[in-house]
Amino acid sequence: MECTFCKIINKELPAEIHYEDDNMIVFEDINPSAPIHLLIVPKKHIVSVNEMEEEDRDIMGEMFFVARKVAEKLGVKRSGYSLAVNVEKGGGQIVFHIHMHFLCNKKD
Ligand code: AMP
Ligand code: ZN
Repeated sequence: MECTFCKIINKELPAEIHYEDDNMIVFEDINPSAPIHLLIVPKKHIVSVNEMEEEDRDIMGEMFFVARKVAEKLGVKRSGYSLAVNVEKGGGQIVFHIHMHFLCNKKD
């Protein structure tokens, strides 16, 4: 498996992990574009939003739920943050394992 995020999930590549459960992992973006830049990544290898199957519907909901948990943990829930999903090369996607960016400039 040549997928960078699967390697992080399998602990074959290092990452600064902020949160992990059975379905999801959250780690720091290696090339941050904000003071806090995390990636919320389902453990299931799904290439992009376009490749999601019917059975994957809950995963997007879980990604938002984990984002909320992380915001609480980091103390940025009220000051605010941005969530983004890039889809396909034209949409800025460079890693083809579905993920959500969590971006934040300041703490509560
Ligand atoms: P996207 O453009 O939505 O595909 O975003 C992929 C993100 O993954 C980029 O912001 C990269 O900086 C980040 N990234 C790539 N490789 C790694 C890695 N090994 N560890 C952490 N973040 C990574
Ligand atoms: Zn993968």
